Amino acid sequence: SQRTLVLLKPDTVRRGLVGEVLGRFEAKGLSIVAMDLRTIDGEQADQHYAEHVERDFYPPLRAFVTSGPLVALVLEGDEAVEVVRALNGATDGRKAAPGTIRGDLSLSNRENLVHGSDSPESASREIKIWFPDLP
Ligand code: ATP
Repeated sequence: SQRTLVLLKPDTVRRGLVGEVLGRFEAKGLSIVAMDLRTIDGEQADQHYAEHVERDFYPPLRAFVTSGPLVALVLEGDEAVEVVRALNGATDGRKAAPGTIRGDLSLSNRENLVHGSDSPESASREIKIWFPDLP
């Protein structure tokens, strides 16, 4: 079994879709290992998105992820990293396949509802950032 770091970004909370999105992960069979509603500052955003801080799209992304509360989660299950990314769908909600979270619920490249770690290595790094005390 494997763990992955998932964020239900501020658009999910603002739009009242926490239950809908979390329900899809639960229905798939993933277990919730940690879960917290919190609002992050710019420094925490930079840490999480370390690989993107120099990109053109980063300043508006930073403003977005710090714009209100988000739900940080650690999910666990067989091949959780890949499974979550498949459920999330392509980055751009306009292009994501119907049936995926983004494909069904997002029409944006930035406000795309969810984040999921992109590899087991990223998952360990991100889980340490978000839940440093998780055993
Ligand atoms: P995530 O890492 O959040 O699961 P992802 O792996 O599909 O998403 P990345 O390429 O890692 O996408 O980009 C991280 C986040 O940055 C995206 O989820 C999206 O919110 C934002 N983003 C990525 N590319 C763009 C872009 N071209 N324009 C605006 N926002 C973008």
